Amino acid sequence: MISDSYQKVTAGHLKRDAYLYIRQSTIRQVFENTESTKRQYALRERAVALGWPTDRIVVIDADLGQSGASAADREGFQRLVTEVSMGRAGIVLGLEVSRLARNSTDWHRLLEICALTNTLILDEDGIYDPAHFNDRLLLGLKGTMSEAELHVLRARLRGGILSKARRGELHVPPPIGLVYDPKGTVVLDPDQQVQESVRLVFETFRRTGSATATVKAFRTQGLLFPRRPRGEAHPDELVWGDIGHNRVLQVLHNPRYAGAFAFGRHRTRKKPEGGLRVTRVPQGEWEVLLPAVHAGYISWEEYETNQGRLRECAQAHGGERRKSPPREGPALLQGLTLCGICGNRMTVRYHVREQKPQPNYVCQRYGIEHGEPICQSIPGGGIDQAIGELLVEAMTPVALEVALNVQGELQSRLEEADRLRQAQVERARYEADLARRRYMRVDPAHRLVADSLEADWNHKLRALEEAQQEYERQRQADRGLLGEEERTKVFALATDFPRLWNNPETPDRERKRMVRLLLDDVTLVRNREITMHVRFKGGATKTLRLPLPPNAWQKRLTNSQVVEEMRELLAEHTDQEIVAVLNERGLSSGTGKPFTSCIVGKIRRKYGLKSRYDLLRERGMLTVGEMAQLLGVSTSCVAIWRARGLLNAHAYNDKNERLYEHPGEDPPRKMQGLKGKLCDRRRLAPLVSNRADEVQCEA
Ligand SMILES: [Zn+2]
Repeated sequence: MISDSYQKVTAGHLKRDAYLYIRQSTIRQVFENTESTKRQYALRERAVALGWPTDRIVVIDADLGQSGASAADREGFQRLVTEVSMGRAGIVLGLEVSRLARNSTDWHRLLEICALTNTLILDEDGIYDPAHFNDRLLLGLKGTMSEAELHVLRARLRGGILSKARRGELHVPPPIGLVYDPKGTVVLDPDQQVQESVRLVFETFRRTGSATATVKAFRTQGLLFPRRPRGEAHPDELVWGDIGHNRVLQVLHNPRYAGAFAFGRHRTRKKPEGGLRVTRVPQGEWEVLLPAVHAGYISWEEYETNQGRLRECAQAHGGERRKSPPREGPALLQGLTLCGICGNRMTVRYHVREQKPQPNYVCQRYGIEHGEPICQSIPGGGIDQAIGELLVEAMTPVALEVALNVQGELQSRLEEADRLRQAQVERARYEADLARRRYMRVDPAHRLVADSLEADWNHKLRALEEAQQEYERQRQADRGLLGEEERTKVFALATDFPRLWNNPETPDRERKRMVRLLLDDVTLVRNREITMHVRFKGGATKTLRLPLPPNAWQKRLTNSQVVEEMRELLAEHTDQEIVAVLNERGLSSGTGKPFTSCIVGKIRRKYGLKSRYDLLRERGMLTVGEMAQLLGVSTSCVAIWRARGLLNAHAYNDKNERLYEHPGEDPPRKMQGLKGKLCDRRRLAPLVSNRADEVQCEA
């Protein structure tokens, strides 16, 4: 290999830079395996020996501590690939180069690019030119074996782990509250405070039956929960902090607190864009579950009961959280709403009002996690309706315009094609005509020429006929494309939508599907009104504002017009009379009932309307007692005088209790022994003319 090294390296390679790629998969390797790092740097000497000046050797060591299992997240490797593909690299150096990428796809891609850009590869064993078949085969094999090595290594490790786990002997760090004793069995943590904290979680959950309530209980009492910091540096260290919803769930879901050993509760998958995705595996699919292996805080039965409860809670509240396919239930924007305050996805909660399920869009995730009030909750009925109207309104003109534009463009293109084809037919006709004339002009005696011209004419005539047929066929096809049927279909697109949308027969699920086809998401903010930022597919946006719908109590409020009418009526009428007037006018209370004096009284007090008594008193009217005192007579006498019309009074309630108008400067007096009936001394209209007599009588 060495012998032909110098043949492989050409001046063209030397003109470009050499790239030394250095990697250790874990930070631990970086520290412990310094030998390997040294060897990697020693490759630089090889490059110098091959003719690269030291300052032209670029070292890429950004990936120290990154695993080679995937190119994603490996910035250094990506940079290397970029440099190679730009043709800047003459040679790539690496220790056991196939370990550049422990993943066949990444490796073969690199080889391909090296071959295309004429880049050499060098490792401890030799120098390769990926453009040469033999070298490429070898490099490919190295890559495959490297990947296989990794696989075998993993499989062996996993096999070992699994068989240990099946025996229950696998050393898995137990959760907080459980520790290994010196003999290697799991026991309760001797730290009493830790034990108490874990016990308290289970007790609170037993009492409240909800993880959220458990978080709240810890919060209100200011209790902390321990956790071990990540990493193995200080295994005995504990950090005390607030307990979150997530943490409570972890504790409740962990079977080890019930003394069971479990393995395979989570599954790790690679994501296409790099990174890992961890999913919980249902209990039935765990690889190992050994109950009653060690001490625990709760019994296995209680553990299972807890799981059941948690499941019910999750179904009641946790559903519809992600951006998800449409499900049953009327909430139109399920899975499409974003919180305009914190940016989280909002969920749907239903409640029943007037026997119909009504959606509420709620942002509750943070609140639940921290046992705090939720971020915002917005009544969904009005929002759904507004979205529906927006879509119906947006669909018609937009869709029509697009459809018409497309139609117009198709039309003009077809007309152009039609003109071209027509020109072709004309040309064929002209040529046929020409051939005919040439044939006509020839001397029939000249048989050979005549025969050949006749054949030519026949040929041209056939060509003309073919051109004509082709033209007709295309015209038919075009007409099919823009036929009446097609045209109606295009228009139907625009007109169908509102019809379909408003059709009560259309199931909610279909309506939700239509929304999903048209909208990306809707961001909601609730303050004095509801603001909705609607994002259509394709980027168009629209902002809608809605007034907040009235609360249950606001809905039951009396109409303000009724209150105003009452204010006016009170000046002249008692409650009972007002009831009669309001009911006669066909008005009803906030709850839709006819008025009663009880309701009128309540409304009067609620809105601070002055009572009739106060109104009359303000106008200077006197009580019967005051009147009696003023006139120096008994109260019954006042009543009699009122009945006889000597005094004017107004009822201030329905018990016939009255207030009296001031009698003025000339009040009625007692005139015992005087002849004449009381009714003759009426103070009303005729009284004025008699005033002089009265004074005389008095004298
Ligand atoms: Zn929020």
